[in-house]
Parts: sequence; C-alpha cells; structure tokens
Amino acid sequence: PETITVQELANRMAEKGADLVKALFKMGMAVTVNQTIDQDTAELLITEFGHNVKRVSESDIDLSLDTAEDSPEALEPRAPVVTIMGHVDHGKTSLLDALRGTGVASGEAGGITQHIGAYQVTLKDKSKITFLDTPGHEAFSEMRARGADVTDIVILVVAADDGLMPQTIEAINHTKAANVPMIVAINKVDKEDANPQRVRERLLEHEVIVEEMSGDVQDVEVSALKKTGLDELVEKIQLQAELLELKANPNRDAEGIVIEAKLDKGRGPVATVLVNRGTLRVGDVFVVGAESGKVRALIDDKGRQVKEAGPSVPVEVLGLSGVPSAGDPLQVVENEARAREVAEYRQSVLLQKRTAQAPASLESMFSALK
Ligand code: GDP
Ligand code: MG
Repeated sequence: PETITVQELANRMAEKGADLVKALFKMGMAVTVNQTIDQDTAELLITEFGHNVKRVSESDIDLSLDTAEDSPEALEPRAPVVTIMGHVDHGKTSLLDALRGTGVASGEAGGITQHIGAYQVTLKDKSKITFLDTPGHEAFSEMRARGADVTDIVILVVAADDGLMPQTIEAINHTKAANVPMIVAINKVDKEDANPQRVRERLLEHEVIVEEMSGDVQDVEVSALKKTGLDELVEKIQLQAELLELKANPNRDAEGIVIEAKLDKGRGPVATVLVNRGTLRVGDVFVVGAESGKVRALIDDKGRQVKEAGPSVPVEVLGLSGVPSAGDPLQVVENEARAREVAEYRQSVLLQKRTAQAPASLESMFSALK
C-alpha cells in the first residue's frame, strides 16, 4: 500500500492513534487519525516508536519498504528467473550444468563460472534466462513464506527410469502452492529402462496434465548427460516467459532479494542478490534485512567485476555490515544515516522476536521440569 491511515498504522504498531498524531504534529504535520499518510512518513513514525513497539508484525517491516508500483510506461522486459526442482539424483545439477554449457548458451563456454547461487545464460538470440542454483525445496518454500517470490518458472526434473518419487511430489505441491508455472523435463531418456510415458501418466495422478496428455503443462524429454532436448527445453522456457510478460523498471533505486549470503575470509560479508527492479550500482547505499551497507564491488556469475546490475541479474554484493539471511530484501536508500536507522530498527525487531521466543527464566524452565 502506498498510503495508510494513522489509525491503521497505530493498530499495527499497537500504539494509541493519539500518540501518533502527537508525534506527527511534532514533525510538522497536522493530521487526524482518519487521515492517510504516505509510506515515508509511516516509516519515520515506526522508527520513532521502534523502541517501545509492543507487537510488531512482518507487515510493519514491509511498511519501511518502498512498495510503490512502477507506472506501466516505466516497465521494460526482463529475463525469466527459473528454479529447477525434483527428486535427488534425477539430474538437477547435471541439467543446470548442461544448460550453462555449450550448445544452448552463446559464447560463454570456457568462461570460468563461479558458484554464486544463481547465474544468467545468454542465448544465441541474445535473450537471457536466469537460473537459481541453490534453492532446495525448503529454501523455495521458506523464501516464499517470507514473501520473496523470486521464481517465475519452475522446471520439474523427473528421471524417466525412476519416475515420480517423494521429492517430485513435494516439488509439485510447492510449485502449485506458489502458483508458479511449471515445465516438466523428463530426464535420462538415454537410459535403456527409460519410460517417459509412464512419467506422464503418473503425473496425471497429481493433476499435472502435460501437453502430450492434452493438458497445458509443457513437457520435454531431455538427457542432461547426452545433451539432447536442451534447445527444446529452452524454447519452452522462452514461450512460458512470453506468456508471463515479465517486466520491471530498470530506472530507479534498486530492490532485490538475497539468494545466499556468507562471511568470506578476506572479502567480509558477501551476499548474492537477485535484483527485482531498478539498477544496483557500485557506491549505492542500501539496507538488506537487518544489515546495511554501501556497495564496494559487484561481481557477476563469471567472477567479473561489474559496475551495475539490472532486473533479473544476479550479482555478488560486497560492502555489507553483516551477513543477511536468504530471502532478505535489499533496498537502496538515500544515505548511510537512513540505512543504519532502518537496519537498527530491524535489529531491534529481531531482538524482540527472539526475546519473545526465549524461555522466560531459568526458574520457569525448572518449574516446567517438575
Ligand atoms: P541431482 O541430485 O538432481 O542434482 O542429480 P545429479 O545431476 O547430481 O545427477 C545424479 C546422477 O544422474 C549423476 O550420476 C548423473 O551423471 C546422472 N545423470 C544426470 N542426468 C542424466 C542423464 O540425462 N542420463 C543419464 N544416463 N544419467 C544422468
Ligand atoms: Mg544436485
């Protein structure tokens, strides 16, 4: 929401509406509890009351994000973000490697790719596809639970010899719950005991009706090992992406989502960020989860330093105050004071949550044992 009434904000903050009105008056704004204020003002108020907020919900944190929609004219096409899911050993990693390697990708074979949790492939027609390299099913559903819906398309890998297995079904359920379109890649069709038709039939039982069975879920037979069917798979991704009309505004302060983060010896805290909208640049000041920072360097999936990263581009970001969590939003803000302010506020929220979850005292722990 771009605006909120003072009363609604007060309710969410578990504060009295009158107290918010008073605080706003001190800030030079004469408003009543029924009037609306904009996001920046709401954010200021939250920070102001940050220390004595009793009950803080996730939505209050979201309030500090500039969630204003971009105008349709500002939107430009962006690359689809694809996650590969499926049962262990059905060939997820092999397929990712095959897609990144020769044949499908243009001219980047031989380039040293480094693992940053996501990578982008440039196709022969110059269009791009971003693949997420980390999310297991848990990461996928956890990120989604946090509102970090980064995946546009799921590729469900099913080995043609093994068929549907528990994690295949889990992946189907996650994908359905996330309402993300799925493409079924029936892998290992080179194997003697491969039975792709059996896979299609079993999928019916889980209400995944593929094209071959007159449904509308795209399916394709591939062999990650022999590198067959890859062009067709890429075509299907492109087709699905076209249907989704994926767009973002590249000309604004960047927003992104942390895909993975770690403390690197030598380089300090490092986060791989997938930019949602805007363009992230070296020198930008940002908040990321409960951390803040200033972009010291951006490194792409080929290990090259880059000056900027636009929508759907994954980059490693250096210059963070600490290590954020996967799924944390990153947001460019106007200055370092502001970044620290929001980060500190979020730290206090996290602390409150932890305190609320911790056992009250040793005494109560002992009495619980009696
Ligand atoms: P993941 O656990 O889903 O990431 O699966 P991997 O990519 O690690 O593959 C598991 C095993 O299956 C490895 O030994 C691969 O070499 C093999 N494999 C993957 N794709 C194919 C394929 O298309 N054909 C055959 N015959 N083997 C494959
Ligand atoms: Mg793997």
